Amino acid sequence: MKELEKLIQDMFHKDCSQCTNEELYQALLTYTKQSLSDKGYQDGKKKIYYISAEFLIGKLLSNNLINLGIYDQADEFLKKNDKSLAEIEEVEPEPSLGNGGLGRLAACFLDSIATLGLPGEGIGLNYHLGLFKQEFHNHLQREMPNPWLEKDNWLTPAGVSYMIPYRGFALKSSLYDMDVAGYHNKSIRLHLFDIDIADENIVGDGISFDKNDILHNLTLFLYPDDSDDAGRKLRIYQQYFMVSNAAQYILDEAVKKGCTLHDLADYAVVQINDTHPSMVIPEFIRLLTEKGIEFEEACQIVTHVCAYTNHTILAEALEKWPMDYLEDVVPHLVPIIRKLDERMKKKYPQESVAIIDSDNLVHMAHMDIHYGFSINGVAALHTDILKTSELKAFYDIYPEKFNNKTNGITFRRWLLHCNHELTDYITSLIGDSFKKDGFALEKLLEYKDNPKILKQLLTIKTDAKKVCKDFILQNTGVEIDENSIFDIQIKRLHEYKRQQLNALYIIRKYLEIKDGHKPTRPVTFIFGAKAAPAYIIAKDIIHLLLCLQELIKNDSDVSPYMKLVMVENYNVTAAEKLIPACDISEQISLASKEASGTGNMKFMLNGAVTLGTMDGANVEISELVGENNIYIFGQSSQEIIEHYEKSDYISKEIYEEDELIKQCVDFILGEELLSIGQKENLQRLHNELVNKDWFMTLLDFNDYVKVKDQALAEYEDRNTWAKKMLVNIAKAGFFSSDRTIEQYNKDIWHLA
Ligand SMILES: *Cc1c(COP(=O)(O)O)cnc(C)c1O
Repeated sequence: MKELEKLIQDMFHKDCSQCTNEELYQALLTYTKQSLSDKGYQDGKKKIYYISAEFLIGKLLSNNLINLGIYDQADEFLKKNDKSLAEIEEVEPEPSLGNGGLGRLAACFLDSIATLGLPGEGIGLNYHLGLFKQEFHNHLQREMPNPWLEKDNWLTPAGVSYMIPYRGFALKSSLYDMDVAGYHNKSIRLHLFDIDIADENIVGDGISFDKNDILHNLTLFLYPDDSDDAGRKLRIYQQYFMVSNAAQYILDEAVKKGCTLHDLADYAVVQINDTHPSMVIPEFIRLLTEKGIEFEEACQIVTHVCAYTNHTILAEALEKWPMDYLEDVVPHLVPIIRKLDERMKKKYPQESVAIIDSDNLVHMAHMDIHYGFSINGVAALHTDILKTSELKAFYDIYPEKFNNKTNGITFRRWLLHCNHELTDYITSLIGDSFKKDGFALEKLLEYKDNPKILKQLLTIKTDAKKVCKDFILQNTGVEIDENSIFDIQIKRLHEYKRQQLNALYIIRKYLEIKDGHKPTRPVTFIFGAKAAPAYIIAKDIIHLLLCLQELIKNDSDVSPYMKLVMVENYNVTAAEKLIPACDISEQISLASKEASGTGNMKFMLNGAVTLGTMDGANVEISELVGENNIYIFGQSSQEIIEHYEKSDYISKEIYEEDELIKQCVDFILGEELLSIGQKENLQRLHNELVNKDWFMTLLDFNDYVKVKDQALAEYEDRNTWAKKMLVNIAKAGFFSSDRTIEQYNKDIWHLA
C-alpha cells in the first residue's frame, strides 16, 4: 500500500488519517483504476461482445479491490489509519445503468468472462440519470432522476466516436470505457456509448422531459416512459444508437485484426441480451453491404455471428415495433428488414413465425431467431416452455438452435463482497477454492450433522441481521428486531411476481394477531421493489404495502409480533445489505411466468431457505437441495398453462366461496387502510384482484398460507433449520455465473 500512501500525499498533501472519506474514496478510485489497467486486458482473435441495454453493475470499489486481490491490504491499511473501508464505500454512488435481473445478469456475466480469462466485452449506453430513483411520499412511489456520474468516476474516455444516422440528421457518439476486473485475472472492458450534447437541464418535474428533443435527451434515462408515441420512438432512437455504435466498433476491431468481413464469424460473436439490441442484425447487414458484400452473403455472415437470449415469455414484454416508427426513426433499416422478412416468408409462410406481421409490426425476437444461430432460455423450465409452447413454431423449424443456459450469479459480489463473515467461515472449513469453483461448496455437506458448525452458521446469520437492522432503520425509520424471522421479497414489482400474494398473507396474519393468536416468534416482512412509472397496478401494490407498514407500525397489539418494512429505492447496494440477513427467501411468482430469477440464487448462497413456486430456477434449486430444504407451494406450470388455455380461472368464484380469502381481500378496502391510504388506488387494486387477477393470486393463496406457516413453525427447531441453511449454501455452486459462462462458451461462443 506504499503507492496508495504516496498517491494520497500527492493528491491531498496530507496523511491518510487526516483525509475525509470523500478524499479517500477519490484516492482509492484513482489507485484502483490504475491497478486495473496495469493488469492488461484479455485479448484473442475471436471475442464475445455482450450487447445489453442494461448493466446493473453496483458499486465498484470493493468489488474491484477483491478481484484485484488487494482488499485485505487496503482494509488493513485504512484501519491502521483509523479509517473504515465500509464507510468510504458509502461515498460511492451506485451506477444507475440497469433495471433488474436482466441487467444484473449482464454484470455478473462480465465478472465471469473476465475471471475465466475469456476475450470479451460488454456494450451498452451511458445513461446520465439512469433508471429513476424511487422516493415514497404519502405512501406512494414518486420517480426522481438518479444522477450518478460524478467528476471522478470509473469511466475513461476511449477517444472513439462514430456517426449514427437517423432520418434527417446524424448524431456523433463518444465512447466511455469501464474496466471489469477478473478475479485474480486480467480485466475486460464495458463499453458505454454516449453523446456529448446530452443535457440534464431539460428535465423538469420528477423525470419529465421533452421526449422529442433527441439531440439532448438520448442518453439521459434508461427505459423512458413508453406509454406514448414519442416515448416509444425515443426507445428506438436509443436502441439504434446502441447497436449502430456496437456494429461499427465490432467491424473496426475485427478488420484491424485482419478480418476480411467474409470471415467475421472467426473474429466476433454477439450475444443479444433480450430484444433491445435486436436491430444489430439489420445494422450489420447495412454496414456489410455498404462495404461491398452481397446481401445474401451478409445474411449468412450475420447468422453465424449473432446469438439471442430470451428472458421472458410474457407476451407484452416481447418487443414489436410498428413499421411506421422505424420509418420515422431509422428509414435506412426499413428496406433491409423488409427483405429479411420476405426471404423468410418464402420458406416459412405461416404468420406465427413472421418478422413483419399483418398489422405491420416488426417482431424483434422473430428476427433474432431467424437470423441468429442460437437461441437460449435462462432456466431449464423456461427453455422447455419456449420449445413446447411460446416459441414452438420456431422450435419445429430450428430445433438445433435452441439451448438452455440456466442463469448464475458471481460469487465474488454475492458472497465474498456482501458477506465477509460467512466467506471467512466457509474458508476456514473447506479452504478457498470455492471462490473460483462454486462446486467446491459441496465440501460443506460433510458438516451437516455437526452441531457446533450449525450453531456458528446461525450466529453469522444473526450478525448479518444486526447489520441489516441498522440499514433498515436508516432507510425506513423503522426499528426491527434481529431475533425475529426475516422474510424477504426484493425484486421489481410486477403482478406475476405476486407481491400482492405476500401482502394478503400479511393481512391474514394481522387479523389473526388481532384475534389473539400470537405467533411464537415475531416476523419481519421486508420488501423492496420499484414499479415501472406507467404501471398503475404495480404502483397500487406499493401503496398497499406502504399503508400496511404504517398500520402495523402504529398498532401496539400487533407490532410486537410482526413488522412490515418497505425499503426505498431497492438497488444492488440495498440487495447486498438485505440478502445476507435473510431467513426466508420469497420466490412466489405464478408458475411458468418467472423465466429464471437470480435473486433466488443470491439468497440460497447466503443461507436463506426458499419459499417458492415451481417456477424458473426454483425448480432447479429444489432438485439440488431436495424437498426437506425448500418450501414449495402452488399449482404447477403445466396446470397454470392449462388454466390460460381453457380460460377457466375466475378469481371472483374463489373470492365469493372462500370466507377467509374474501375477508383478506376486503381488508384492502376496510376502514383501517382507507384512513391511511388513497381510496382510488386501493379500490382499483381490490377490483383487480376480485375481477381480473390475471396472475392467479387467489388460486394459490391457501396453499401459500399453509406452507408459509409451516416454514415459520419449523424455524423454531434451530438445529434442523441451520442444516437446511447449510445444504442450501453447499448446493449453490451450480448457480455460479462461472458455470453459466463456461456453458455459453462451450455451446455457443467457442472462444479459445
Ligand atoms: C438480483 C437482482 C434482481 C433480480 O431479482 P429477481 O428476484 O431475480 O427478480 C433485481 N434487482 C437487483 C438490484 C438485484 O440485485
